[in-house]
Amino acid sequence: MNCPYCKSELKEGTTVLTFQMDEGKIIVVKDVPALICEQCGEESINLENSKVVEKLVQKAVADGITMGFIEYNHAA
Ligand SMILES: [Zn+2]
Repeated sequence: MNCPYCKSELKEGTTVLTFQMDEGKIIVVKDVPALICEQCGEESINLENSKVVEKLVQKAVADGITMGFIEYNHAA
């Protein structure tokens, strides 16, 4: 798979996603699997992983976390 912007090869890696929620809540998800372009820095996260991230963030909010780091968990 190649970068949609600069056509360089995408490399497997991990990224950090920051979600700014209502009421000033900030949830940061670490170690999210992503394909990363070494040329321009474009990060591509597949649908499956983005759904997992979404669930983790929703759970964190439901748990009352207002600001914090959570780690990507494949089992989520
Ligand atoms: Zn690129």
